[in-house]
Amino acid sequence: MGKVHVFNAGPCLLPQQVIDNAAEALKDFKGTGVSVLSISHRTKEWEATMEECRSLWKELLNIPDTHEVLFLGGGASMEFLYVAMNYLEKKAAYLETGVWAKKALKEAKGLGEAYAIASSADRNYSYIPKGFEIPTDIDYLHITTNNTIYGTEIREDIDCPVPLIADMSSDIMSRPVDVSKYALIYGGAQKNVGPAGVAFAIVNKESLGKVSRYIPTMLDYRTHIDKLSMFNTPPVFPIYVMNETLKWLKGMGGVEAIHKIDVKKAELLYSEIDRNPLFVGTAAVEDRSIMNVCFVMAPGYEALQDEFLAFSKTRNIVGIKGHRSVGGFRASIYNACTVEDVQALVDCMQEFENLKK
Ligand SMILES: *Cc1c(COP(=O)(O)O)cnc(C)c1O
Repeated sequence: MGKVHVFNAGPCLLPQQVIDNAAEALKDFKGTGVSVLSISHRTKEWEATMEECRSLWKELLNIPDTHEVLFLGGGASMEFLYVAMNYLEKKAAYLETGVWAKKALKEAKGLGEAYAIASSADRNYSYIPKGFEIPTDIDYLHITTNNTIYGTEIREDIDCPVPLIADMSSDIMSRPVDVSKYALIYGGAQKNVGPAGVAFAIVNKESLGKVSRYIPTMLDYRTHIDKLSMFNTPPVFPIYVMNETLKWLKGMGGVEAIHKIDVKKAELLYSEIDRNPLFVGTAAVEDRSIMNVCFVMAPGYEALQDEFLAFSKTRNIVGIKGHRSVGGFRASIYNACTVEDVQALVDCMQEFENLKK
């Protein structure tokens, strides 16, 4: 079998170098003779890996000293609850840009007053609502910067008069971010920075401690700040792989360098979607994501959907079936996906067009 081009939405493709190093560490972690699966998280070798990972996060995203980076179990979905537990006192607003945003809002509603400040549900979340005013009497505004399912993205750090909280699960490390504008940035690692099993949180220490409720120990960000993400056994292997992924990213030239490549990949694919008469994009052009590219068969060609999917498999293309709530196709072109991978998909679309002409 030739090279397989993986466009899975998550868990994502990881760089080969990361996989190779992880395979080695499974056998022998840093020359200790112990597998990374069995290493004690209280050893100096492990603590050095945790520290390296934390400092790579800080370096790559230019994280100011006001903020700390945490590694947590439970995924981004658990952080929906962390957010409400740690920040919701009276009222919170959520920008409803998709199913993940809605799920985050649901957790807040369970703990207090929370509402959607604007929503794009009217057009199946195919755009980012604009022009809404952010009230100043709310505890925080929650946004989802990249809507993995619908392929829309907020690609700038908005000015916000209240604490700003962002789920960046699927676009973290794809562009430089002004971290100082956020009270909290969080997400699951498995979209762009590692394997499933660990979530990250970049939290402004000053933003905590403002709610009156009892916060269970494990759901209190302060617990994990105090214990350097080792209050309990951390997800050792996922953190190991995340650290390798960040080392790879640094070797690529960091976030600004990868951003240029990400934009180039996205432009390559979107321009084929716009050119090829068989396909049409589903997201509003001005809100198009550079991470998840959603498209469907153009009107008149709908019946060819399954055939194209089958054809793409013969070209070693994996993972482009769209999410059931959008249909069609979704190519997730995260950092580890190469220009060559995207070119293979573009070639496949052109070949299919030629077959059908
Ligand atoms: C995948 C995803 C989630 C859920 O992540 P889990 O780690 O599976 O809980 C949340 N938000 C966004 C934007 C996602 O893409």
